[in-house]
Amino acid sequence: MPNKKSIFQAIFLTIILLLSLSHSGFTDSSATELKIQFKTIEELYLRTHSYLKKFDTTLDEHLHENETSITSFYADLIESGTYSHLLTFRDRLEEHQNEIVQLIQENLAVLNDSHDSNSTPQDQSLARNTIDWIAHYYHELPAPLLLAHYPIATSLHDLEIKDAHFKTALDRVLRAEEDLLNETSSNSGYSLNPFIQLFWNHSIETQIDEQAILLEDKTTPISNDIEEQAAEIQNELAPALEKLSSKSARFAPSTGPQGNITGNQFPPGVWSFTFDDGPHKIHSQKILKNLIDHEMKSTFFMLAQQVKLYPQIALKIQNAGMEIANHSYSHAQLPKISTNRLRHEIHDSQEVIAEVLHKKPQLFRLPYGAGVHVSRIRAQLAAEDLIHVFWNVDSLDWHDRNPASIVARVKKQLRLSRKNGGIILFHDIHPQSVEASRQIMDYMTEKNKNNPGQFRIMPVGDVMNMLESELTQ
Ligand SMILES: [Zn+2]
Repeated sequence: MPNKKSIFQAIFLTIILLLSLSHSGFTDSSATELKIQFKTIEELYLRTHSYLKKFDTTLDEHLHENETSITSFYADLIESGTYSHLLTFRDRLEEHQNEIVQLIQENLAVLNDSHDSNSTPQDQSLARNTIDWIAHYYHELPAPLLLAHYPIATSLHDLEIKDAHFKTALDRVLRAEEDLLNETSSNSGYSLNPFIQLFWNHSIETQIDEQAILLEDKTTPISNDIEEQAAEIQNELAPALEKLSSKSARFAPSTGPQGNITGNQFPPGVWSFTFDDGPHKIHSQKILKNLIDHEMKSTFFMLAQQVKLYPQIALKIQNAGMEIANHSYSHAQLPKISTNRLRHEIHDSQEVIAEVLHKKPQLFRLPYGAGVHVSRIRAQLAAEDLIHVFWNVDSLDWHDRNPASIVARVKKQLRLSRKNGGIILFHDIHPQSVEASRQIMDYMTEKNKNNPGQFRIMPVGDVMNMLESELTQ
């Protein structure tokens, strides 16, 4: 329920907004452009939601059939375009979100810098109006759609924001996420009690569902360039997944199949947890603690920019016996970038990580898995002595905020795995991933009590060495 204070704030902001619009370079068209950007982010978020449902439906269909082959399950996902669309939406969402983060940072910098002669009064007023417009937008947006903006708010979380209105608007975005998760004081982060679970299923989740269906019902076509990108990824994924059944177990840096591990070459019962996009200042350490508690070792695919930000966390993870691998410098979509930038993402990232950890990573994972079949990218990886690591179980934890449904999705894929072995993809940058991966660790530990060795958890590099030594025996 809106209280008097928030109504007052809204009126106040509207007046400020109207006053400022009439006096500055922040025109109606700037506002329209921002609005288009924001609506695009929300549309992509809702589309992702629909496609995640399709992904889960495909899983359920395959579980009900007796055919338990991971290749046919993924083949269906690829053929239907579900998985390539999910990867495309994620790429586009991050692209738009990053643009907004940058825009906000630039404008806040101008405002914070009011005594600096570098910015003119016009710059100041333009920045003021942009920030006010965004604050107003976030104050008005309904909760389910605020979730689409959550990554923007978390990226800005560490900034010192002097502007009170903007700060409360960002807090509103952050709170939308917190409302979905029942934060506990336990070290493991988040867990959902039955009441919250009920709330989830019948409230916010339903609202997102409704919004997503509304979007589909309007039969608004997905924009052409997104469809094109999804088709490109689809073309690339199909041959990559054929390789899933490859029997070759010898790996070496190369542009061919030997330079690409998918997880389906793993021996029965052998699984690797992989955690991407960190190190994150809070969540990575929670995951590390959970792994240590479960006596499990895993592989962390780190971004060089994050390693630079949190070198101590990266070191702590390595010192705990975990494997550190490279996930590029800044999570760029590598097929889209120039040769120079490609060198930065692959070569420079190796240098940065090696400088902090005194050890060069041997493994690399392409952001969004994009570029496995682009020869200039694979050649660059091979030149750096890197082997590429794909996955065959995707938690899709980057979109799904509900630990319970992430856990269900992973368990279903574990069951569908023909050989009971492979590589599980998580991200150590989200609270829901901390909780979901902990529950999977619990599940595996419990299974091992009754059936020792059912789940042998190892870092990817250790599995490679094991397969190599079996070959030479
Ligand atoms: Zn990633």
